Amino acid sequence: METSLHAAATAAAFRETPAPFAGPAPGPAPLLNVSGLTKYYGDMLGCRDVTFALWPGEVMGIVGESGSGKSTLLGCLSGRMAPSSGQVAYESERFGVVDVHRAPEPVRRNLLRTEWGVVHQNPRDGLRLAVSAGGNIGERLMAVGARNYGTIRAEALRWLREVEIDATRIDHLPRTFSGGMQQRLQIAANLATGPRLLFMDEPTGGLDVSVQARLLDLLRNLVSRLGLSVVIVTHDLAVARLLAHRLMVMRRGKVVESGLTDQVLDDPQHPYTQLLVSSILHA
Ligand code: ADP
Ligand code: MG
Repeated sequence: METSLHAAATAAAFRETPAPFAGPAPGPAPLLNVSGLTKYYGDMLGCRDVTFALWPGEVMGIVGESGSGKSTLLGCLSGRMAPSSGQVAYESERFGVVDVHRAPEPVRRNLLRTEWGVVHQNPRDGLRLAVSAGGNIGERLMAVGARNYGTIRAEALRWLREVEIDATRIDHLPRTFSGGMQQRLQIAANLATGPRLLFMDEPTGGLDVSVQARLLDLLRNLVSRLGLSVVIVTHDLAVARLLAHRLMVMRRGKVVESGLTDQVLDDPQHPYTQLLVSSILHA
């Protein structure tokens, strides 16, 4: 499918502008160029004037207390929620530069099935709990045109193995899985179509600490081995420390501080970040 989008000119202008911060390993062009992204729910502020670039292979953490606008921002970045103003330009493999919110709905849906993955905090939002584990992976493959049963099953088995779910569980329903297994299945289903960009909202929230640690370890390995770019929302600074190269700290819908993860956490500049960091230390 060939789609010509009028975002191209804007995105070209974006590309001439240096990224607001230097990422660890900048590729030729940022995957995401986000500019002035703002979302109101009626009079209620969701997020305001968020601007940043995400480079290939980079993990961006969005941190902040509950209600600070993290999920709103993630929803707008991934095209699932329409912003009130601002722009998200995505450098797509198939479509070229896509102005995410001005692109036709089928383009956004296609990206969400192919080049992007979304991992929800609640597995219920990302999995069909009444469809087998293999079926959850197979559905995503069929959505991109896979038809051969043997191939789909082999791929499902491969991805279950990748996320350390025993092959014998392939025909079991995810509602019989533990929380950690459900999250790993959600990740497997997303990765099956070979996305390059993952959006994750509190993927380890609600899990026991030891289960969290295992999931984080798995995620870290997959992200680095597959060279994924990630935007991960978390209120947990330990999760951010482990996974993210860079952080954006949100408060009341706005980014109050951003930078390399270690810099932000070891030498926070904004009083709110200082408070966040110290409340972790004294928790
Ligand atoms: P976080 O993910 O950091 O907890 P959210 O993005 O969910 O924050 O919420 C940011 C702000 O937007 C909060 O004040 C929240 O009450 C408000 N908000 C979120 N979703 C809605 C909605 N559907 N309708 C109205 N207000 C909302
Ligand atoms: Mg949230």
